[in-house]
Formats: sequence, C-alpha cells, structure tokens
Amino acid sequence: MSVCQKSNGRKLAYAEGICYAERTMKTSTICVQSGWNPKKGEPRVLPIYQSTTFKYETSEQMARLFDLEEAGFFYTRLQNPTNECVAKKIAELEGGVAAILTSSGQAASFYSIFNICEAGDHFVSTSAIYGGTFNLFAVTFKKLGIEVTFVDQDAPEEEIQKAFRPNTKCLFSETISNPSLQVLDIRKMADIAHKNGVPLIVDNTFATPMNCRPFEHGADIVMHSTTKYMDGHATQVGGVIVDSGKFDWAAHADKFPGLTQPDDSYHGLVYTQAFGAGAYITKCTVQLMRDLGSIPSPMNAFLLNLGLETLHLRVPRHCENAQKVAEFLETQPDVAWINYAGLPSNKYYALAQKQFDGGRTCGVVTFGIKGGRERAIKFMDRLKLASIVTHVADARTCVLHPASHTHRQLSDEQLIEAGVKPDLIRFSVGIEDAEDIIDDLKQALAAIQ
Ligand SMILES: *Cc1c(COP(=O)(O)O)cnc(C)c1O
Repeated sequence: MSVCQKSNGRKLAYAEGICYAERTMKTSTICVQSGWNPKKGEPRVLPIYQSTTFKYETSEQMARLFDLEEAGFFYTRLQNPTNECVAKKIAELEGGVAAILTSSGQAASFYSIFNICEAGDHFVSTSAIYGGTFNLFAVTFKKLGIEVTFVDQDAPEEEIQKAFRPNTKCLFSETISNPSLQVLDIRKMADIAHKNGVPLIVDNTFATPMNCRPFEHGADIVMHSTTKYMDGHATQVGGVIVDSGKFDWAAHADKFPGLTQPDDSYHGLVYTQAFGAGAYITKCTVQLMRDLGSIPSPMNAFLLNLGLETLHLRVPRHCENAQKVAEFLETQPDVAWINYAGLPSNKYYALAQKQFDGGRTCGVVTFGIKGGRERAIKFMDRLKLASIVTHVADARTCVLHPASHTHRQLSDEQLIEAGVKPDLIRFSVGIEDAEDIIDDLKQALAAIQ
C-alpha cells in the first residue's frame, strides 16, 4: 500500500511521505524512474525485500505500528518495501493518491468491491466484463450475501439508472472490456454513479494508463490485472487497486459505514477521519489484507516493476501492430466480422479517439471466421507464430477462443450478455514485426480453404 501523506489527521501508518496526486514527471519517466529512489550507496535497481518481518528496537515501537500510530513495515502480509515501491509507481501512472498491490487481478476486483460492500448490499456492474470477474460477481458475491445487477453499458442513462437501489454501493466497469472490446464512456458512467452517491470503479487492464487514465474522466477507483500489459512478459500473476482520493465517503457516510464509522479492530479508529484521501486504501490494507491475505510476493512485484519500466514502449507498439492486423483482417473475405476500436468503421471509434491518448485502445483484436465455431477452431490450430495460451496482453502474439476457454463456464445466455459471440476469436497482438504476424494469419486463412 502506498498512501498520500497529505491525508489529514494522524501520521499515516506505512506511508513513506509522498503524495502521488501531482504527476511531476511525464509518463515515460514515471515508468522508468518512479517508485524506487536510491540514496547514496544504495542499489540502483529496486531491491527484492524477500523478508516476512522487519526488526524493531523496543516492544513499544512494535505496538505503535500495530495500532497504526506510526509508519513502518512490520509484516509483509500488510506491507513490504518492494511491493510499496511498485504500488507507488502505478499510483503515479494513474494519477491516484494511494495504491495497493494484490496477488492477482481477481483479488483486486474482489477487494475493490468488498472494501465497501457487505452482506445485504448491492452493486451495479456492466455485463461486458472479463469472464472471471463475471463469475466472481454473479456467483461468489452472491454466496457472501452481496447482490449484483448487470447493465448494458451502451444503454441510455435512464435505463442504467433503473438498476440502482438504496443499498447500491458502487458501479463497476472495464475501460475496454475483455474480450468483447466495448469501450466505456467513462464520463457518462461516472456521472451516473455520482448521481447515486456511489463511486465508479474501473478495470483499466486493457487500456493501461499509457492510453487512458480513468481518473481524468471522473472514475474514482481503478484496478488492474497487472498480469497483462503492465507485466507484459507473462512472468507473474498480480493485481493493483488505485484510489483517486476524490470520492467523498463522508458526504455519503450512511452508505459507507466501514469507512466512516469506528473500526473496533483498531480501537475505534475511523478511516475517513484518520486517513483522509488515503482512507479507502488504508482500510483495504489493514483490514482486508490483514484478514484475507492475497499479497504478491516481493519477487513478483520486482518482476512487475521490470515490465512497467518498458510499458511506455510496449503499449504503443502493441497498438500499432494491432491496428495493422485489424486493417488486414477487415479486407479478408473469410472474416465474418471484426471488432477493433481503432478502425473508423467501429462503433466505438469516435469515443476511442476522444477518450484515449492518440486514439490508442489496446493490442487485442477480436473477429469471427465465416463458418462459425468449428472453422474458428480449425483456423486457430493452423496459426504458428501466434500461440494458443490462456493469456492476453503479452509481448508474444497469442490467441484464444473464449467460448471454449476463458468463458467456458458461462451459459450461452451469459455469453451473449458478456458480449462474447460463440465464434469470437481473441487475438492478442504482440510486439513482434507486424508483417510476420500478418503472414501467420495469411497462411492460417489459406490453410482452411
Ligand atoms: C485477466 C483479467 C482479470 C483477472 O486478472 P488475474 O490477474 O488473471 O487474476 C481481470 N480483469 C481483466 C480485464 C483481465 O483481463
């Protein structure tokens, strides 16, 4: 967890004293330089603090840490210096005030909502979301007594509004949905959420802060599966939650008692009073991480940081290659349909141009092959450079058939709700030479004639 020191009240536990709200450097520089700032004689590269514990001189010092009265590391389940540096870099990239790393994107989705929802509560989510998230919301949250209503993000405001109830605690969506590639109108959704007195939580995994920073468009909380572009090399599974620090929990105190009422497990501490803009991430750390775990290993945070150091080079290249691939596929008679918001023919083209830096969306292209499911599978099996893996947003081009793989558990009805056609091929364009990727597609298309 990395938290803004400008938060009011007591000295922040765990925080090292930098407010990330003000981006003083350009994005590329943040990618390369931010997080770890060595002093004289310290390692130039972010060290891996592979230690569960941290030493203190007196019992009293340790007690103060447990009461959140003093800043400092004491146990890696709550905070670790390597993880801290990487969280700080991501907070800065998103323009947020505080962030926490999690051991997976799933954990980040879960915590981002569970931090403000409890049994008896309800939240609204767009239906076109990652299959794992859909299952978490529709099945697992239900078991915890938390209900979700799915909405079509492209529906008119009045329609989406109908899903809100008095016990609704947040609105959740994806900047670019995986795998249906619907582009979220973040401003529209933020306005709807705020009218209902709840925050907008956005999964920004596919766009990355290189292409879009949802806080600039009104989102309140951002989360990522860092397993994807942020890592980029398929070496670690991870997640992150970033808080903009802008949502006024205290103004809706009755809706968010977990943040605005005393926490008995910390001698009656009130997060909004004690930690101000850092309240949400502090609670997530000292309550959810304390009780549920799901921290990444420092080694994984280190690997994630290596990926982040080149995020600004990789993401534009992914997008440039994906654009070429999409333009090629659009001309192919065997391609039944193609979805890529970088194509002027795409439904989301204008929104993408407006909302994303340089109109860049992501490196993932989806399309259907004429002849449906069977022919799609045949085509995939013929690909050579593009490998079939349960992964996406990797430096190496990869491909997947969601209906047979990631979304296998969903019924046909749920598939359609999630925006996944049975013939949909998810093609994750890597950072190789675009010509080689297109040649691979050409030979696979030729092979199914
Ligand atoms: C992969 C993914 C997740 C889940 O992340 P894991 O790191 O696999 O747990 C969540 N959201 C999106 C958009 C994803 O692509």
